[in-house]
Amino acid sequence: MKHALVAAVSTLGLMLAGCAYNESLGRNQFLIVDDSALIQQSDAAWAETLRTEKLSTNAAQNERVRRVGGRIVQAAGLANRAWDYRVFQDDSPNAFVLPSGKIGVTTGLLALTRNDDQLATVLGHEVGHVVARHAAERYSTQSTAGLVLGAVQSRAGDYSQAVGAFGGLGAQLGLLLPFSRSHELEADRLGVDYVAAAGYKPSESVALWRLMAQQRQSGAPEFASTHPSDQTRIAALQQYIASRGWN
Ligand SMILES: [Zn+2]
Repeated sequence: MKHALVAAVSTLGLMLAGCAYNESLGRNQFLIVDDSALIQQSDAAWAETLRTEKLSTNAAQNERVRRVGGRIVQAAGLANRAWDYRVFQDDSPNAFVLPSGKIGVTTGLLALTRNDDQLATVLGHEVGHVVARHAAERYSTQSTAGLVLGAVQSRAGDYSQAVGAFGGLGAQLGLLLPFSRSHELEADRLGVDYVAAAGYKPSESVALWRLMAQQRQSGAPEFASTHPSDQTRIAALQQYIASRGWN
């Protein structure tokens, strides 16, 4: 009896430790990894990526991402983290974020965006994933469910149609596995908050996702199963922007 009680109490303790309230999201999260473990893993993954992938040496491109990114992380209240922004040479529009504050965008994404407001949308979305602790949450739920990394590795990258380029990274703690639909929509909403707070135009978020939708129609295969449809995400954003009285 005593043992059963001890077991019950420690199980409860574990569950409490695993469940955290995230104020930005207004919901509880089940987390079995702490930030320090994830940050260590993502720093290693980042170093590996910088060593193995093709980086853009275009100073203007890199400076643009750093400048817009700096305003976004400031708006998100995360300016105290060691952020790094890099442009990768890859024609498919994609971006990713690591929990330690490393952001990669492709040259294809920069080519797609028509202005800094649209780039801010992408970076806001990525920073939204960090604030929302989505990587830790995804890792926590997938580890408990039994994760088969190999099967999903080829779908690595935030915008899902990616990209051999980041495939190797996916193996490390599942840092770059596709986010779920609800995570994507949460990141969109947080992202547009930062876009507005940083002084960029929230309506350009809608324009950006329309461009992404067009690009998808004309191009690469889509792994739509884990992603909200373009219409769903655009409608959700429009509704949210209208509810805040932004334009
Ligand atoms: Zn995302």
